[in-house]
Amino acid sequence: MAYLPIVTLPNPQLRTRSEEVDPATIKTPEFQKWLDDLVETMWKADGVGIAAPQVGRWVRVFVAVDGKKPYIVINPVMVRKSWRMEDGEEGCLSVPGKWGIVRRHRGFALKGLDRDGKPVSHDANGFFARVLQHELDHLDGILFVDRAKEVHETQP
Ligand SMILES: [Zn+2]
Repeated sequence: MAYLPIVTLPNPQLRTRSEEVDPATIKTPEFQKWLDDLVETMWKADGVGIAAPQVGRWVRVFVAVDGKKPYIVINPVMVRKSWRMEDGEEGCLSVPGKWGIVRRHRGFALKGLDRDGKPVSHDANGFFARVLQHELDHLDGILFVDRAKEVHETQP
């Protein structure tokens, strides 16, 4: 297991759109080890989610924590977003020392592949729905500060 260095602003590469993963590579030992490293890096940094571009790999992969369980999603695609929106506080491992209020869909669902390459879907409301939206944004080069109504430098 290895911890991966986290890319932070103002690195412009955080604004890059990440590429789809070729499903044939998912089961390779290199990719599987990297997934373990990604999860460990998130735990070490005390995050509730992390996306591949945050550790310098521009592929469409993220980890999102629901309760205490980390879910890996590869090639995620949005399948539902609620009409209802909700404001909530966010921070980001790539934007150290800043927090902000971001308006997100209250309900959100996506589908993708799990770490075995099997189809998986997550349909969430509230905080986990927010995490899914935040992490999916990373894969399109969007950071929470781009969407925040207000950004502050003290943790709520
Ligand atoms: Zn983030």
